[in-house]
Amino acid sequence: MQKNRLDTILRKIGIDIIGITKNYDIDKIYKRLVKRREKNYHTEFEFDINKRLDIESILPGWKNIISIGISYNFNIESIDAELKGRVSKSAIGRDYHLILNEKMDALIKALNEEGYEFNYFKGVDTTPLVDREIAAEAGIGFFGKNNSIINEEYGSFIFLGFIIIDIDISELWGKNRILENRCINCNLCIKSCPTNALRDNNDMDAKRCLSYLTQTKEDIPFDLREKINTLYGCDICQNVCPYNRNAIKKDEKEIIDIDLEDIIFISNKEFKRKYGDKAFSWRGKNIIRRNAVILLSKIVNKKSKDILIELLKDSSEMIRKYSIWALYMHGYLDLEAIILKASGRYLEENINELKRIEEFYVIKKGNR
Ligand code: SF4
Ligand code: SF4
Repeated sequence: MQKNRLDTILRKIGIDIIGITKNYDIDKIYKRLVKRREKNYHTEFEFDINKRLDIESILPGWKNIISIGISYNFNIESIDAELKGRVSKSAIGRDYHLILNEKMDALIKALNEEGYEFNYFKGVDTTPLVDREIAAEAGIGFFGKNNSIINEEYGSFIFLGFIIIDIDISELWGKNRILENRCINCNLCIKSCPTNALRDNNDMDAKRCLSYLTQTKEDIPFDLREKINTLYGCDICQNVCPYNRNAIKKDEKEIIDIDLEDIIFISNKEFKRKYGDKAFSWRGKNIIRRNAVILLSKIVNKKSKDILIELLKDSSEMIRKYSIWALYMHGYLDLEAIILKASGRYLEENINELKRIEEFYVIKKGNR
């Protein structure tokens, strides 16, 4: 197959960037992963290190990894709602796992039709392998200090997927190339990160990253809750990056805000119907409701207060606890009386949570 034939196929499928590598650099990846563990920067979503290196057991006799990138740099629109919360660009559209898997299936089919027969393994961020390392090796982009893969044309708002195959077709792409790192070290990403999750030496403390915090089911520390400004994910360190300013845009538009009242009181059935195919729904309804409650802590008005008071009787313990914290952040002097009146059978638990919150902030104030 000629290179221009491949380009035609890619255009037809809608793959924006493609690269291929013969290399999964186990030594380099091992060192990076060990460093992350030693610094305790990893999260509960990360696989065991040995699994992340063991590409041979995933596809024995593998020869190449095809890495693909699809831009999600679409135009965004807001909604007209009094209480609204923003979802990160990567998670608001149709679930990227579905999109990438479809595109990769189409690519595999097209390669088969061109006479290439192979065994394969497809991956989109839920496998143990490190897809950003693969993307960098395959020349999709380079690592920025914001920990994203940056492509000079498309910026860093790109979904990444890969296909491991057991034949060598690298000649189709020419030489295996790793791009020169063109991060201009402006440090805008580091300076703008609300939680200091990004460190100067290209490290990231993922436990402090808002993208992680809006997904975890762990109890979010009170001081980090205060930093959360989105319903799901965080785009700040990508939005400020100069490479995204002039990046190629998609024609599509996505509505990026969600009505908080609607999502807090949504039924399971309706949540599934409305948001079941969105990437942000993967942790379930209550995590999004919890994040909505965190956002209400910053909106001090009657409507927000009334919703939070109603949630003091919510069947989810997590929602009740976060609602008490959100009301505390509103600063009501009669909060204990509000809780006494509105908690019903959860009164004792709610009062205990209020004490826990008060203790934390009294100590915090004392330490200033
Ligand atoms: Fe910081 Fe947000 Fe970037 Fe995470 S996604 S590193 S919280 S700016
Ligand atoms: Fe690099 Fe600046 Fe982009 Fe951060 S904001 S990744 S330092 S170019």
